[in-house]
Amino acid sequence: MNRTQRAAGAVIGSAVGDALGAPFEFGPAGAFSARFPVADPGREMCGGGGWDPGEATDDTQMAVLVAESLLECGGLDLPDVFARFQRWATSEPKDIGLQTEDVLTNGMPWDLAAAVHFQVNRYAAGNGALMRASTPAVRFARDGREATMDAARRIAALTHGDRAAWEGTAIFHELVRVALEGADPLTAIPGALALVHPDHRRRYATVLAADWHPDRATEFNGAVWPCLGSAVWALRTTTSYEDAIRAAVDLGGDTDTVAAVTGGLAGAYYGLDAIPTRWADSLHVPLPGFSGRVLTLPQLLDLAHRLAV
Ligand SMILES: [Mg+2]
Repeated sequence: MNRTQRAAGAVIGSAVGDALGAPFEFGPAGAFSARFPVADPGREMCGGGGWDPGEATDDTQMAVLVAESLLECGGLDLPDVFARFQRWATSEPKDIGLQTEDVLTNGMPWDLAAAVHFQVNRYAAGNGALMRASTPAVRFARDGREATMDAARRIAALTHGDRAAWEGTAIFHELVRVALEGADPLTAIPGALALVHPDHRRRYATVLAADWHPDRATEFNGAVWPCLGSAVWALRTTTSYEDAIRAAVDLGGDTDTVAAVTGGLAGAYYGLDAIPTRWADSLHVPLPGFSGRVLTLPQLLDLAHRLAV
């Protein structure tokens, strides 16, 4: 398997996880396996909860906005990414995180909006920056470990003032980078942790440890630590893209995002061909605020290929 197939796997894998998990958002653990006791890719991309089968949510919509900015600007242009986020946020997306919405609509400039929100609210360690990281993780992988982790932090900081959200996203970038090299992303955890800000290292070491289980989470999995920990757990305890995603959705809670993060890692590791076509065929990503565009699988593949070049 080559790097291009892995890069496409990361982008499509995350989007498919998002769409598969969306109908189960905020549901209980076990809801997915109760509905589908036998694995059946032909039925599982079922839609529901306001989502059509294969419809990707805000996670993937924002990942596409980041990707298009990176490609059109020829690199990381933070004010441009923020402006695209704002345009999308004010165009009535079906779903948007509470904090993300506030930061993008509070009228503050790009380099202050998230910091001011964090100063006022104190809590800003949601998974809303981690969830959209598949595309920049592919783009910045070629630049090496420190550079990709730094890019992750800067994009996360556009909407999340809490450094915990930056560091979790940086770890994700590094695991994807290593997976794109053809190695097991789990082997990259110690090296990634070594580059995490010291104030945040212990907490990430806990949720990324081999014996950690999502049952041990001390927060709802909409928070960045258990979200990343659950994604790594799903990857560690299964042996295929499909089963990793099923395990992630079956955790309940913030299922679309936990599965999107899992799908980014598992897609990068197992590659595009490991993603069931019956999950991917109906995939589509509406982009509110962008002239009614809806990206389908061929367009997402094109985006992934251009990011990986
Ligand atoms: Mg979502």
